[in-house]
Amino acid sequence: MTFLAVNNLSKRYPKAQGPALDDFSVMIKKGQRLAVIGESGSGKSTLLRIIAGLEVADHGSVTFKGQAVLDPTQKLVAGQDDIQLIHQQFKLHPFSTAAENIRRPLLLYDKEYARERTDFLLRLFGLADKKDRIPKELSGGEQQKVAIARSLSLEPELLLLDEPFSNLDIRQKRGLLEELEEIFDEIGLTVLLVTHDLEDALAVAEELCVIRAGKLVQRGTANELYRNPENHYVASLFSRLNPLPNETDKYLRPQHIRVDESGHVLTGKIVKCQFHLLYNRLTVSIANSPTTWTVFDEKRTLHVGDNVNLSYSGEDILQIAEE
Ligand code: ADP
Ligand code: MG
Repeated sequence: MTFLAVNNLSKRYPKAQGPALDDFSVMIKKGQRLAVIGESGSGKSTLLRIIAGLEVADHGSVTFKGQAVLDPTQKLVAGQDDIQLIHQQFKLHPFSTAAENIRRPLLLYDKEYARERTDFLLRLFGLADKKDRIPKELSGGEQQKVAIARSLSLEPELLLLDEPFSNLDIRQKRGLLEELEEIFDEIGLTVLLVTHDLEDALAVAEELCVIRAGKLVQRGTANELYRNPENHYVASLFSRLNPLPNETDKYLRPQHIRVDESGHVLTGKIVKCQFHLLYNRLTVSIANSPTTWTVFDEKRTLHVGDNVNLSYSGEDILQIAEE
């Protein structure tokens, strides 16, 4: 039995130009962590809301552990406890402490169980020493952890995360992502994350699905998608693509281009140089061609106006159709 089966979902909102979801299917095994990645408006939130039973699909079905997930027209109270959805704009109760926020969904449960479960989650998320703080006394990352801990209070088997890290600064985010990955591993939670951010997807998920205009474009490990992208859209999620001059549908990633090597293949002139963390990012105008390339200078020795020799190996050329 498939843990979560999303079968041929289609959804079009009234007055919308195109479909939000277009015959989208995906399967997830128990304990798996999958990320759906796609640009804004590609249907990610709609997908999660339908899976959580909070939105009605026009066609298709969702089954969770062999049972149909009922939509709001089929159920008095929308959603189900064993599937929890967390948004970017999660809302904590502002005047309740971290512990009280986490315990809130457990109010109707046995008091002893509620206390134990809350303590367990506070420890799991490294929040035990901050349990008496109210949200504004916590960092953004800590608030996000309280929100996720709260959603785990009812012991859901499937966690749906909708761009949950977009509001955090990059340092908070990196720390949180590492910590979450370990926590999810430890409790064997099944996670479906949707995001426009490849770094977030890679940090949490083992496998990726690329969505575009409501359609599944490609599914695979990061490595598979990187090596064998189905089309330009998938390839461009991973890096800039430098077109080979005088060729069609052939590209090189910046990281595969070497600067100032003997045995060069192309020459160009540096028109822009930007400092990045691991390299200077050069914009190079390729000689005898209107093409400009993005190239990385790890040694940081080159300057605007310099002529450079560029080389690459043929096996790194990506041959990909536009669509
Ligand atoms: P994403 O989460 O990837 O940004 P969404 O699922 O939110 O994408 O939206 C998919 C498409 O459906 C977009 O074109 C969006 O404008 C449209 N859409 C989303 N929600 C509604 C709604 N309630 N009413 C009308 N159109 C909507
Ligand atoms: Mg969204």
